[in-house]
Amino acid sequence: MTVPVQQQTEADVPAKRSRIAAADAPIPFSKPYRAPGELVNLERVLSSDHSHGDGAFTASATARLRTLTGTTGVLLTSSGSHALDLASILLGVGNGDEVILPTFTFPSAANAIALAGATCVFVDSDPVTGNIDPAAVAQAVTSRTKAISVMHYGGVPVDLPAIEAIAAEHGLPIIEDNAHGLGVQHRGRVLGTFGAIAIQSFHDTKNVHSGEGGAIIINDLSLLERAEIVREKGTDRSKFLRGQVDKYSWVDVGSSYLMSELQAAVLDAQLQSFDTIQAKRHAVWNRYATELAEWADAVGADLMAVPDGSEHAAHLFAILMPDQAGQSALIAHLRTLGIVATFHYVPLHSSAAGLRHGRVSGSVDNAVRFSQRLVRLPLWASLDEQQVQRIVDGVRSFRPGKG
Ligand SMILES: *Cc1c(COP(=O)(O)O)cnc(C)c1O
Repeated sequence: MTVPVQQQTEADVPAKRSRIAAADAPIPFSKPYRAPGELVNLERVLSSDHSHGDGAFTASATARLRTLTGTTGVLLTSSGSHALDLASILLGVGNGDEVILPTFTFPSAANAIALAGATCVFVDSDPVTGNIDPAAVAQAVTSRTKAISVMHYGGVPVDLPAIEAIAAEHGLPIIEDNAHGLGVQHRGRVLGTFGAIAIQSFHDTKNVHSGEGGAIIINDLSLLERAEIVREKGTDRSKFLRGQVDKYSWVDVGSSYLMSELQAAVLDAQLQSFDTIQAKRHAVWNRYATELAEWADAVGADLMAVPDGSEHAAHLFAILMPDQAGQSALIAHLRTLGIVATFHYVPLHSSAAGLRHGRVSGSVDNAVRFSQRLVRLPLWASLDEQQVQRIVDGVRSFRPGKG
């Protein structure tokens, strides 16, 4: 792009300075998107007398999620983590049980198992996608296994046919952590509809957010009635609100897993902008993929790979450096340019709580190596042209050993 030469006047000077400052301003790793309509929605909640859960915006956001996923069993929750805790309760995970999960995942998946008194059985990842390795899952199944917990890393689908075959063989439910993959089409369905139970997160680092928040998707509809009860402090208040019972009472264990209407108001506006958000994120993702390919070849790095026939959510853009030294060096190099890139999960089996609440099954070398090679670039919907160019140029200016 050529910038026309302009006569400089006194009045232009401050504007120019701020343009220069913007050109050098640090680029954060993540920045929450602000959707049109959020403030109007919030205003409506605040001027009503209903800001607790299960009001009009919860109903509207839930309906949007049902349309997006093509399922009926959607319930908004206070967080993705709480949705995972709720999943453990619904599946009856308890003392003496084991749940198989990837060691390369977010701690909430493991907390849901440990809080239920069960043992986490950590398994390896696919070296290319970082997703759970089905062969490792097959080997980890014991008579104590209660469920298989998977996570679509970056919204790239797990090898579902292989996991479904193992689950069917042993009669085990699948818990699908779809925090990264909202709305991703896969084999004629949408991620979040494959497991007996799936979860979404609306934390403000996710593609669509409400500050904090989440959803549970109940695909095994025999669990839906109890899900409503556990989510509502163990009461049948949901039935009462629908006029199905004339008073409500304590009927089961539970807690308050509801999303406030204030959050639902923001979420509803965000979901309305879902296509816009995704288009913006995919545009950035695609530029990284095309404009960094040659550089990656030259330095021996691998760019995030999406298996043939799969979609992804443009939730993150990952570079796999040749080794851990390359990972640290690229992150440090980008830091000096004011660009915040980061690594990701420290494998759970080696963490302090992982050692207490779980055990490893088989080798987890691929997961460890994936975690040590991984660098994530900034990826958010309102990154502008100039910022994306700075990031691309910044990465391309990195050469191993040069820093
Ligand atoms: C963010 C995230 C969660 C937890 O979601 P919260 O809404 O922050 O509780 C769980 N799993 C994965 C993979 C996540 O990225």
